[in-house]
Amino acid sequence: MICECYLRRPSLTPILTPRFPLPSLHTYLQFLKKSNYNNSLKSSHGISNSSSSSSGILSSIGRAIEEEEEYRRARAAVHKKGVDLEGYSIEGVSIGGHETCVIVPQLKAAFDIGRCPSRAVHQNFLFITHAHLDHIGGLPMYVATRGLYGLKPPTVFVPPCIKEDVDKLFDIHRAMSEVELNFDLVALDVGETYEMRNDLIVRPFTTHHVIPSQGYVIYSVRKKLRKQYVHLKGKQIEKLKKSGVEITNTIMCPEVAFTGDTRSDFFLDPCNADALRAKILITEATFLDENVTVEHARDHGHMHLFEIMEHAQWIRSKAIILTHFSSRYNIEDIRQAISRLQTKVPAKVVALTEGFKSMYS
Ligand SMILES: [Zn+2]
Ligand SMILES: [Zn+2]
Repeated sequence: MICECYLRRPSLTPILTPRFPLPSLHTYLQFLKKSNYNNSLKSSHGISNSSSSSSGILSSIGRAIEEEEEYRRARAAVHKKGVDLEGYSIEGVSIGGHETCVIVPQLKAAFDIGRCPSRAVHQNFLFITHAHLDHIGGLPMYVATRGLYGLKPPTVFVPPCIKEDVDKLFDIHRAMSEVELNFDLVALDVGETYEMRNDLIVRPFTTHHVIPSQGYVIYSVRKKLRKQYVHLKGKQIEKLKKSGVEITNTIMCPEVAFTGDTRSDFFLDPCNADALRAKILITEATFLDENVTVEHARDHGHMHLFEIMEHAQWIRSKAIILTHFSSRYNIEDIRQAISRLQTKVPAKVVALTEGFKSMYS
């Protein structure tokens, strides 16, 4: 209805047209809705001609321009390679049901492998959360491509309940392709710890999906001199150390947590506190608005943005990266969702939209 009004009044468009090129028509239409533009049109056609109505139009235009800028930034994020947060650059592709692979090059780690984006191949550690194909489908290609490039065999972590099947899958691929496919497959259970480097460890945590699943927290590890020895001089500390006295405490700091697909129940498990205080929490927000209910999200083992907002009080992270958006949404929907969550948490909220494709685009 509003659009019709706009289309029938071409004489009013010259002010706006240069600022609203075709790709942003969506934003423009939203602007028209929000700014009650019908009234402005009536005003400018004699029903009222007060200066307050023209300043109303100007402020509406101002608002629309601001929205337009935000929209442009969101679009640019789709093409930008990753996001920089808390000293980490995080890359990857994540579209609910299609593919999810999140990469943290500084940790040489990839979380889930999706369809094996090329940058994932260069990560030595791969953490698989569950066996849905949008998360594990690219695994044989990941292992094969590393072999092709002569990279060392990677270490792939899986929930213990799928290890045997993954082994079988690779036996089939080896038989079919007559290629070696070398890698270390580690079944790492919740509560267990694996040392990736002497200053880096990983621990799985419980998530709640429709099939067995787990998330991962990567911790930095450093030694800190015990309080009772801080007043000592270098030589004295050295002497104590040589005598076999333990002079340091080990400090573990949760750096990055990745949930994979999960219901919001993971927020309420006290054992998951480290995931919720990791510097960066990477989690899913498959559903974003009123058109899909929270019940629907729960039935499908996923999270609704509204649930994250509801549980926001438990998040202690400095940054939250949302992933796994349903392809029913577009970039503007995602941008609005981020703004909504941002009002609920002090953490910086970002969407991983690199390579995101809406089913409507
Ligand atoms: Zn998924
Ligand atoms: Zn899944």
